[in-house]
Formats: sequence, structure tokens, C-alpha cells
Amino acid sequence: MDERAFYTESKTTKAITLQCPYCRTSEPHELQWLVRKKKPQLPRGADERDRAKFAKSASYMVLLDDKVACKNLRCRKRFDISGVKTTAFLAE
Ligand SMILES: [Zn+2]
Repeated sequence: MDERAFYTESKTTKAITLQCPYCRTSEPHELQWLVRKKKPQLPRGADERDRAKFAKSASYMVLLDDKVACKNLRCRKRFDISGVKTTAFLAE
């Protein structure tokens, strides 16, 4: 069974303050996240292995963006997102 069957997927945005490495401007950027929320019950057709995997799985989100554009109008360079954890586990 595909692990994705354990989750309900949705998208969300979260503002995170990032510093541009070129001009050092710090601004909040809305980053896009894919949210995988664990389903309340094991999907139909699951076998023993799926059951074990499902028991260990937890809701989490994955960062979709890898670059942002600087908000300083005199800079506006795109830079890599670094220092942001690209996956985060969610409280149930
Ligand atoms: Zn900049």
C-alpha cells in the first residue's frame, strides 16, 4: 500500500522571516507547505505491514518552496531558503 494512502493532503502557507544573503534584508516570506495529515483510521485493504507502518506514521508537513525573491525593491534577487527545516511534524 502506498504510504500516501495514510494521509489527507492539503496545502498551507506559513510566514517565515528570511534574510537575503545579498543585501541582508530580513523580511517575512509566505512559504508553501504540503500538509500530510494522518487519517484517523487505517485505510481499507491494509495488511499487517501497512498496519505497522501506519502505527508509526505521524502527521507532518513538507516545504515546497526552495527559493524566494528578496522583497527589497533595489535587490529583488532570488535566493535559496536555508536554515528552515524542510519537514515538520505536527501535533495530533
Ligand atoms: Zn536582497
